[in-house]
Amino acid sequence: MQKLLFFLLIGIVAYVIMSRVRREGQPPTTRPTPGSQAGSAEDMVRCANCAVHLPRGESFTSEGQFFCSDEHRRLGPVRSQRR
Ligand SMILES: [Zn+2]
Repeated sequence: MQKLLFFLLIGIVAYVIMSRVRREGQPPTTRPTPGSQAGSAEDMVRCANCAVHLPRGESFTSEGQFFCSDEHRRLGPVRSQRR
């Protein structure tokens, strides 16, 4: 009797694994490909001092403004350059 339960358990586990594999391989259209879309890319921000673009993760923030370096953060944002 114990052997039967053991084999039943194996059958259930195999079934779960198989269904999981099938589900992963089944819809190739609805399955999102990680890292390929533009939406997954890191946000780009602009330095408020020199207007250079850099990833948000590398930027320095101060009072809701982004800066490319700690030095520019200290200098602060350059307001509308009129020429
Ligand atoms: Zn800068």
